[in-house]
Amino acid sequence: MKAKEAELVEREGLIYTEEVLRKFPKVELHRHLEGTFPAEKLYELSIKNNLDSPRDFERFKESVQFPKDSKPDFLTFLDKFKNDWYRSYEDVYWITYHSVKNFINDGLFYIELRFSPEHFALKNDFDREEVTRLIVKAGNKAAKETNIKIKYLLTFNRGKQTEKEMIPLYNKLKKLNIPEIVGIDLAGDETNYPPESFKKFFALIKNDGIYKSTIHAGEVSPSSQIWASIKELHADRIGHGISAVHDPALQDYIKEKKVCLEQCITSNYQTGSWVDERHHPLGELYRKGVPVTINSDDPAIQGVDLTGDYYKAMSYLGLTIDDLVSLNLMAIKYSFNNEEVKTKLNTDYLKRVRAFKKRYEIK
Ligand SMILES: [Zn+2]
Repeated sequence: MKAKEAELVEREGLIYTEEVLRKFPKVELHRHLEGTFPAEKLYELSIKNNLDSPRDFERFKESVQFPKDSKPDFLTFLDKFKNDWYRSYEDVYWITYHSVKNFINDGLFYIELRFSPEHFALKNDFDREEVTRLIVKAGNKAAKETNIKIKYLLTFNRGKQTEKEMIPLYNKLKKLNIPEIVGIDLAGDETNYPPESFKKFFALIKNDGIYKSTIHAGEVSPSSQIWASIKELHADRIGHGISAVHDPALQDYIKEKKVCLEQCITSNYQTGSWVDERHHPLGELYRKGVPVTINSDDPAIQGVDLTGDYYKAMSYLGLTIDDLVSLNLMAIKYSFNNEEVKTKLNTDYLKRVRAFKKRYEIK
């Protein structure tokens, strides 16, 4: 986010600068580790591994980010995810550690960080279990050092693996018994791989009862995919779910089923899923009482971090600081924790908000 833009945000007589929004305590439920590598660290890794990428840092940055002057485009966006950065287990550990260490600059209080073990392991045929263990270890260390609370979701990519391949991988990973892993995510190409193709996998997850689930749906697909994800895949949360804004019956169903939509303003614009960023559905859905949360998705690729999305939520959608607090309390409510943990998070979060308001003299 550019500081100049943020200086223009004014609510109830107060001006919110980028610094203030950056310090605002945030709860985030939808961010991909693969989309949050700091550019400087990725650059270091590319030099170390002698990869075929630009040697000039500014050019390197351009090559890994969604182009600033580009029209929204889903394929250009997806093209930025590469899985050949890592050459060793140490690389996976290192890039995870530095990514999580960077979260403090976005004012994160609690995050459910998702990653695909398959993404990190595929190119070098690393052991998927070892990769999973290392990512959690690195993330936990960085989070502890920065006083951020962290949990993890395992992402399965619908375009990269069939249901038949996902199930044995899931069965292996669940045996790791890592308590910080709290959910399973289905990501990737919604259009060609509809939720119906993954019914058995999500029935198994539901039946095991170890993890909650979140499904990317209604991002570039119609609301029928959100219906199917909730009804047939038992989704506890929906990634994006922007097409719900056109379907009032679905909005009632989402409220009744207590499902939450993890929305991502910048990402939805850049991928072309929602063309009018200034009227992103998050504002309307929030005002209608549909459970929604603000998330960054892939901040490093977007070149806009979560703070930038908060800026847009205030400036474009007209939300106040207290609306943002409500949205964060909503995110805690829909996090994949038990009730006891949620109550504690709630109390601690409100403490952080009080300290934040005091520091910036916000009523
Ligand atoms: Zn996503």
